[in-house]
Amino acid sequence: SSGSTLSDINPSKLVVKRNENPKSLPPSSQLKFGHTFSDHMLTIPWTQESGWGTPQIQPYGPLSLEPSCTVLHYAQTIFEGMKAYKDPEGKIRMFRPDMNMKRMNTSAHRIALPQFDGTALFELIKELVRLDKNWIPTEPGHSLYVRPTLIGTQKAIGVGPPNEALLFVILSPAGPYYPEGFKPIALYGTTEFVRAAPGGTGAFKLGVNYAPGILPQKFAAKQGYAQNLWLHGPEHYLTEVGTMNLFIAFHKEGGGIELATPPLDGMILPGVTRDSVLTLAREHAAGVRPIPGLPKDLTVSERPVTMAEVKEASLTGKLAELFGAGTAAVISPVDRIGYQGEDVHIPTGKDGMGPVSRHIWTELIGRQTGAIPSDWSVVI
Ligand code: PMP
Repeated sequence: SSGSTLSDINPSKLVVKRNENPKSLPPSSQLKFGHTFSDHMLTIPWTQESGWGTPQIQPYGPLSLEPSCTVLHYAQTIFEGMKAYKDPEGKIRMFRPDMNMKRMNTSAHRIALPQFDGTALFELIKELVRLDKNWIPTEPGHSLYVRPTLIGTQKAIGVGPPNEALLFVILSPAGPYYPEGFKPIALYGTTEFVRAAPGGTGAFKLGVNYAPGILPQKFAAKQGYAQNLWLHGPEHYLTEVGTMNLFIAFHKEGGGIELATPPLDGMILPGVTRDSVLTLAREHAAGVRPIPGLPKDLTVSERPVTMAEVKEASLTGKLAELFGAGTAAVISPVDRIGYQGEDVHIPTGKDGMGPVSRHIWTELIGRQTGAIPSDWSVVI
């Protein structure tokens, strides 16, 4: 098939069917993450014969799928997660959306779903968010969570690239992840389950990566831990935390701090927050853009870290902090890791944050909400 003759996503073809029964944004106290959806959704169908079809914004509601649909059998589904904020002047801002569009295409490619022009999809997402702008909560720490999804909808059982697909985007108003301030979480360093393996799919945002994590999550919760710390190999390399990337800060010999995160070796999801933390820390370390309060002597490394190293650093006082990083919680400090029958203790500051995360968090949130000017924040 010659891909060039197929249509790509075309924002100028957008059809808008307005919701005749709009609802209103519930009060903040009633916003449970991912439970409330706005008035509209975006859908874009795809067929192997003609490519991407007419984009439509329509009332949020059920999709109609045949039971034979490949997504329902073989997990032909990928997704993204991003946020829209309303700044104090009422402007709508999204954070590094180009990265989500790029990652979504990478994910699509990995499971033979159709790729698309990310800029064109983002144009349509902007239309959707602008139409439902009253659904962006304005209280501090609030945002509108944007969930693009792409599924294979071939109406035939059989494992193969689908001849039909559907891209849709839904919007969910979200309150702050930590309404009462930062609360460090306890992790279970699981040696029973793996999230990803070399040559597997851990580096992609595929639906198939998430359902297998639910049972291990229940297992961790039963033992009093909030999330799993996913380890790899006999060395027990740290990889990710629940559905977040992971940073470990060590006090360096003779002063200063090393901020380390596992390398993108195919088992790590290339998080937008991960990349942002790394970039901010590196710009600070290089003196390009110093972040107030952050230790001047900062080494930033993408390198493997084993549980043995973390345990040793904890016992010798070399561990400065350990935190998760992702769109939902932004930064999530950790205070202990259950590992091989005992707890490894991790220092946390009075407010729950550590010497690196506190300042990086302030800078990140500032850039996301528009309080700190940045190219990363796109006004839509
Ligand atoms: N790892 C996994 C497994 C995730 O699902 C997510 C959430 N997308 C992340 C890391 C964090 O990525 P991001 O910063 O882009 O939200």
